[in-house]
Amino acid sequence: MRNVKRAVLVKPGSPLEIWERPTPSASHGDVIVSVQMSGVCGTDHHLQSGDITLPNPMVLGHEAIGRIEELGSDVTTDSIGEPVAVGDVIYWQPAQPCYRCYACTVLEDVSMCPNLVTFQLHQHADEPPVGTYAEYAWLPERTAFFKVPADVPHEALIAFGCAMPTALHAINRAGGIGYGQHVVVQGSGPVGLAATLLAHLAGAGTVTVLGAPPNRLEMAGKLGATTTIDVTSTSEQERAAAVKEITNGRGADLIIEAAGRVPAFTEGLPLVAPDGTYVILGLWSAPGTSPVEPRYLNNHNIRVIGSAYTTPRHMYQTIQVTRTAHRRFPLAEMVTHRFSLDQAQDAIDAVGRGEPLKAVIVP
Ligand SMILES: [Zn+2]
Ligand SMILES: [Zn+2]
Repeated sequence: MRNVKRAVLVKPGSPLEIWERPTPSASHGDVIVSVQMSGVCGTDHHLQSGDITLPNPMVLGHEAIGRIEELGSDVTTDSIGEPVAVGDVIYWQPAQPCYRCYACTVLEDVSMCPNLVTFQLHQHADEPPVGTYAEYAWLPERTAFFKVPADVPHEALIAFGCAMPTALHAINRAGGIGYGQHVVVQGSGPVGLAATLLAHLAGAGTVTVLGAPPNRLEMAGKLGATTTIDVTSTSEQERAAAVKEITNGRGADLIIEAAGRVPAFTEGLPLVAPDGTYVILGLWSAPGTSPVEPRYLNNHNIRVIGSAYTTPRHMYQTIQVTRTAHRRFPLAEMVTHRFSLDQAQDAIDAVGRGEPLKAVIVP
């Protein structure tokens, strides 16, 4: 039993409260970690503002690096069979699939498990915190987790907390990126920046990033963007003309929507090359419709693909990409803002204003 401090969203619109509650030890399949660093995700801001509504009160935070404090009696290895012990640093999938349904078993796509427990659903803030805005976080049984090698800097990994797994999933669903292909990334938040790096690493011929503000576009350049275009100082027509010119008039082989705005889809679809692909991953919490002429997709052999959540594979791959990429790219520089647990509200406010490249809470 230990007293654990956590930042609690009591209801949308009200400031986070700091609660301290006694929390029991790990049992059977559970793991308890001390949170070393918790990423602040745009989703946390959406949850607080009420754009996304889930049962409250809840402990926010779903991307973190933690040090193992307690292992349940059944836990001896991480999710790839590496032995684990108290003191090891881990990174985990913030969701528990059921592994007993059609999606989990036949589709082998746990991201579509209808029983997936994610975003601390069904958890009351009095219980051991699953959310990571807390001194200690509790990984329930069936949480996929992976040991973080000692040569992976924590800042470099949390820089793309849930963003790189999301981008990896989407690029995988889109069929990957071929050498020399023209890629357009819409959006320059952490997901767009992760997609930029991954496109560069995959050998894309050009990576054009449409985003804002300038500090994010500057980072996009450091991560492999060959052109960046500020969406606040250009018109849709100007951006379309730029993409056509960059792609020799053909359009992009792959467009990755990470803008989180429905008009991005309307703008981006005509910029896809014949036989190209448009993958949507940023509209999870953005309702709205966009007119599409199905004949256009038909006559240009265009694929439109959706991608939600991640799978444990993408969490594992994120560690591996970070392990090599941090030596050549300034991933740790992404972490521009640090907050204590008591300042969790300030962290969310800063993310809401779009100030940080990446904000973290260090409990
Ligand atoms: Zn997130
Ligand atoms: Zn399932």
